[in-house]
Amino acid sequence: GADLVFDIDADHIPTPCDKVHDNWVCGVCGLTGKGFTPNKCPVCGSEKFEVSTWPCEVCLDSAKTETVKLLDMLVRDFGFSEKNIYTFFSGHRGYHVHVESKAVRTLDAVARKEIVDYVSGLGLAVYFHGLDKKDLRGSSSYHGSLSDEFGWRKRLVLGMQSFILNADEENLMEIGLTKRKAEMILKNKDVILKNLSNRRSWGAVRGIGFETWRKIAEHSARLQSANIDTVVTTDIHRLIRLVGTLHGKTGLKKVEFPVSAIDDFDPFKSAVAFKAGAVIVFVSDAPEFRLGDEVFGPFRNQRVELPTAAAMLLVCKGRAKVIE
Ligand SMILES: [Zn+2]
Ligand SMILES: [Zn+2]
Repeated sequence: GADLVFDIDADHIPTPCDKVHDNWVCGVCGLTGKGFTPNKCPVCGSEKFEVSTWPCEVCLDSAKTETVKLLDMLVRDFGFSEKNIYTFFSGHRGYHVHVESKAVRTLDAVARKEIVDYVSGLGLAVYFHGLDKKDLRGSSSYHGSLSDEFGWRKRLVLGMQSFILNADEENLMEIGLTKRKAEMILKNKDVILKNLSNRRSWGAVRGIGFETWRKIAEHSARLQSANIDTVVTTDIHRLIRLVGTLHGKTGLKKVEFPVSAIDDFDPFKSAVAFKAGAVIVFVSDAPEFRLGDEVFGPFRNQRVELPTAAAMLLVCKGRAKVIE
């Protein structure tokens, strides 16, 4: 059998800056749009697009956040050792996570799908976590103490706490609550947070009923889950051999780093391949970007002299041409 491989790619994570730096052209009717590429062309229904994305810092940060959630689940919930987990920056817009262990190799396709469903929170029923429609007052979010809990039971409660702690009226209404319910939650914020910590019953705050809790729980579950691509089965040794090679779309290196170093990992520093020299390029269009400690752009239809790595990135992304 193969190792477990996860792909976390910014292309599959909607971000607020998509609209600034990404655009797509329908391969059939030619319709163009900015931002997240749709599954189907809204005009002709085609699924073929020419997509122009950007390895942007905000997007890569959101991919990293998803990777951190995935790693946390692999270690805490599945019990894999960090020694058996390999983490890579892809050299473009995402991260790869590999689990290499005997326990993994015997897993069949169904078992692998189960793992993907678990980390992405797919099919997670909040009803299994103590939320009971018939008996709200008699049910509580978990049993025993929260520190003894693990897995989704714990993640769900922590997720709800942090969502409620940080939510304003708009956030609450965005998940489908009425203005009145949203106000009620904000007014009782402290009590609700305490109740979640002390495993008091879901029915402890009057006026906040099953449907409200369900919406909050389901939204919190989405925030806690890791947005990953389906597992591809690959030979880890092939991917390890690729470490240090350049990604054709960026000129950045594929880099391996320890699981424990992910918080401080900076792809725009660690993956820079060319450290010397300068190149004169004509840039058609590029957003502001950073490499190492230097910030460049934005550029539009202009001639500019750039360090080799910056010029390489623009040329690879089709945003610039070298001037001889
Ligand atoms: Zn079209
Ligand atoms: Zn972005």
